[in-house]
Amino acid sequence: MSDHPLENPLDNAGINTLAIRAGIHRTAEGEHAEPIFATSSYVFNSAEEAAARFSGDEPGNVYSRYTNPTVNTFQERIAAMEGGEAAVATASGMAAILSTCMALLKAGDHVVCSRSVFGTTTVLFGKYLQKFGVKVSTVSLTDLAEWQGAITPATKLLFCETPSNPLCHVADIAGLAAIAKANDCLLAVDNCFCTPALQKPLALGADIIIHSATKYLDGQGRCLGGAVVGNKEHMAEVLGFIRTCGPTMSPFNAWVFSKGLETLGLRMKAHSANAQEIAEYLNSHPQVEATHYAGLPEHPGHALAAKQQSAFGGVLSFEVKGDKAACWRFINATRLMSLTANLGDAKTTIVHPATTTHGRLSAEDKATAGIKENLIRIAVGLEDVEDLITDLQRGFAAL
Ligand SMILES: *Cc1c(COP(=O)(O)O)cnc(C)c1O
Repeated sequence: MSDHPLENPLDNAGINTLAIRAGIHRTAEGEHAEPIFATSSYVFNSAEEAAARFSGDEPGNVYSRYTNPTVNTFQERIAAMEGGEAAVATASGMAAILSTCMALLKAGDHVVCSRSVFGTTTVLFGKYLQKFGVKVSTVSLTDLAEWQGAITPATKLLFCETPSNPLCHVADIAGLAAIAKANDCLLAVDNCFCTPALQKPLALGADIIIHSATKYLDGQGRCLGGAVVGNKEHMAEVLGFIRTCGPTMSPFNAWVFSKGLETLGLRMKAHSANAQEIAEYLNSHPQVEATHYAGLPEHPGHALAAKQQSAFGGVLSFEVKGDKAACWRFINATRLMSLTANLGDAKTTIVHPATTTHGRLSAEDKATAGIKENLIRIAVGLEDVEDLITDLQRGFAAL
């Protein structure tokens, strides 16, 4: 028995404990694993209760577009892991970004966004938000002066993704948070690549965390989903958008993500250890021109990543000595790695960014972003690293 019978065992608990124990509300059935509540609506005990639930005067389930116990478990768990007051689950990572913007921005507002964000995020900001009168400026992820210089009186949101894809550039989150505070705007960080297992942006001063749960939170490439984490006021706004517009996470997907979170800490360590070994192998290979991984001491983001992350993550890229055709030969010669643009999976994936993930960029934008024709990205999985290196040797043999 505890000396403190009223103490909550999750107060001050470590991230792995939270990943396994937070958000559990055991039912009268006494189930040990989290149940899946496959129900669209809920039954009320009286007309009075129904009215109180609909008006929000009484907490409780109403309709699964915005209240579902399985989704709630995932929301409480990811909020606890990020150190946020609340979270809202969404149908995908893009729905998390859209819902945040729709909830917290209005026509006339201005957003400053790092240039190297996920391609579809660029389209969302540049095409769709623009249509509704939200202006967006893009800046270098790593140049704080450029962020400061882009801010106008209308700026409401700074948005970044760190480390960047695929070159692993690292943003100074605390520095960006200071700029956001001084200019009365919010800082949102897409924490997809590190996850809370490796990086806690809220503790560094960020206001909002964005997740594509599709990636490492699931960890096995099964479901699409997303999450927004932040304070109660902001999350109430985001939930209001979800309630009204419907980009809701399904209970089944929420269950997959909650179970995925249980092993997130272990997996992120293993992804990072495999990636470090592969980065070192590539970096000393005579047919490699450059390796981009923040775990390498010569990488420009190394010191900052070592300070604000607990490991360097699973994504890296490298430039082969050769052209696009050489990269394609390399990729086609691998036998183990999956040729797919997804990441955050136990299965290692390999892709040629210039003709896939970044294929929509103009030649000029590719040059600015450092996406060269001889660049290959690997999202390192959890296979035995010796077998992955053997697979890379097949690629080098084809050069
Ligand atoms: C994949 C991804 C997204 C979008 O998530 P979806 O679940 O595919 O909608 C957003 N940000 C980053 C960094 C991503 O990798």
